[in-house]
Amino acid sequence: MQTNLAPEFKNTADGQAAEAILRKCVHCGFCTATCPTYQLLGDELDGPRGRIYLMKQVLEGETPTRKTQLHLDRCLTCRNCESTCPSGVDYGHLVDIGRKIVEAKVPRPAGERFVRWALKEGLTSPLFGPAMKMGQLVRGLMPASLKAKVPAKQDAGTWPTRTHARRVLMLAGCVQPAMMPNINSATARVLDAAGIQTVVAAKAGCCGAVKFHLNDQDGGKAEMRANIDAWWPYIESGVEAIVMNASGCGVTVKDYGHSLKDDPTYAAKAARISELTKDLSELLPELVEKLRSQVVTQAGQVAFHPPCTLQHGQQLRGGVEKHLGELGFQVNVSRVEPHLCCGSAGTYSVLNPELAYQLRDRKLGNLNELQAEVIVSANIGCITHLQSGTDTPVRHWIELLDEVLFPARR
Ligand code: SF4
Ligand code: SF4
Repeated sequence: MQTNLAPEFKNTADGQAAEAILRKCVHCGFCTATCPTYQLLGDELDGPRGRIYLMKQVLEGETPTRKTQLHLDRCLTCRNCESTCPSGVDYGHLVDIGRKIVEAKVPRPAGERFVRWALKEGLTSPLFGPAMKMGQLVRGLMPASLKAKVPAKQDAGTWPTRTHARRVLMLAGCVQPAMMPNINSATARVLDAAGIQTVVAAKAGCCGAVKFHLNDQDGGKAEMRANIDAWWPYIESGVEAIVMNASGCGVTVKDYGHSLKDDPTYAAKAARISELTKDLSELLPELVEKLRSQVVTQAGQVAFHPPCTLQHGQQLRGGVEKHLGELGFQVNVSRVEPHLCCGSAGTYSVLNPELAYQLRDRKLGNLNELQAEVIVSANIGCITHLQSGTDTPVRHWIELLDEVLFPARR
C-alpha cells in the first residue's frame, strides 16, 4: 500500500518502520475474516484491514480522534491477523507505532487515564503480591466480578534444591508468583527431574509487556533493560536458555532485540537475550525423551487452549498436544475456532470487559464440547480469565506433568 508520510513522520524511525510495514499490505482483507473483534462487532474499522487504514491516514497527516483511538483500543493484539495474512504484514509492530502516535495526539478522559495508570503501576509493583494475599483472605466475601480476578490461594509445593551442570534462567513474572505460584515451582521440579536447574534472577521483574501495551513504551523498555542487567551475569556464566512458562511474557522477551534495536547500549545484549529465549513447550521434545520412563499415570481427557501469544505471536503450534500425547495424556484442541483469542489479552479483559467476556464464553463453549476433565493452557492471563467463567479446572500444562511425575503432590 502506497503511503505518503506526513512531514512530521517522514524522517522518524517510527514513520519509516510503519511505511515499510504498510507497503506490504495489499488490502485483500483475508485477515478480517479471522479477527475476533470483527467477528463480534462486524465493523470494518474493528478488523485489521480497517485499523491499518486508520493508522495509514494518521501517518499521512489526518488528525486522529477518540473514535480512531477506540478502534485501536479494541484490538486485542492477538496477532491472529498476522497468521492469516498472505503478505507477511507485521501488524503487531505497526499497531505499537500507531497506538503510540494516537496516544500522543488524543487526550483520554481523566477516569480512563487513572485506570490505565493503576493497571500499569499496580500489576508491576512489588506490592501486587501482598495485595493479592490480602484479597485471597477476603475472597469469600467478594462480589462475583471481583472474585473472578482473585484466584484462590494456591500451594506452590517445594522448590528443588539439587544443582545441575545444565542451568536455565526462568522469568518468574510479575503477577504469576502471587496468583498461581505452583506454575513456577512445577516448572522447576519438572526441569530438575530432567537434570536441568532452574535459576530465577532476583532482580528480574515484569517482562515489560504490561506498560508497553498500555502505551507507556518508555516504562516498558526500562523494565526490559532492567531484566537484561539482571540476567546478563548468568548468561556470561553459561546458562543455556531463558525459559518462559507464560507465553505472553515469552513473546515480549523474544522481541527485546526489536524493541531495543535503536538503543546503542542495549541493542546487542537484547538481541542475544531474544535468541536465548524459549517457551517452555520448546523444551518438551527433550523432556519427553528424559521423563518418559518416570511418567506412570495420566490425567483423563484434557482440553488445550493455545494462547494467541503462543500460536500467533511465537508461531508455535501443535507442540504441547503432540508431546503431552507422547507421554500418554489425551489432549484435544477444539476444532471450532482454535485460532480465536479467549479475550484475556493482558489488561484487555479489564479495559474492554464486554468484548473480553463474550470471547471467553465463546471459547469456553467450544472447549466444553470436548468434555474434558481439565482445561490447560500456557499463559497465566488466559488461565485466570478462562477460569473465571467455568467450574472445570483451568491449569498450566506443566502442572499436569508435574503431578504425574510427583503423584504424592496430588
Ligand atoms: S491479509 Fe494482510 S495484506 Fe491482506 S488486508 Fe490483511 S494485512 Fe493487508
Ligand atoms: S491483532 Fe487480533 S484483534 Fe487486533 S486486528 Fe489483528 S486479529 Fe484483530
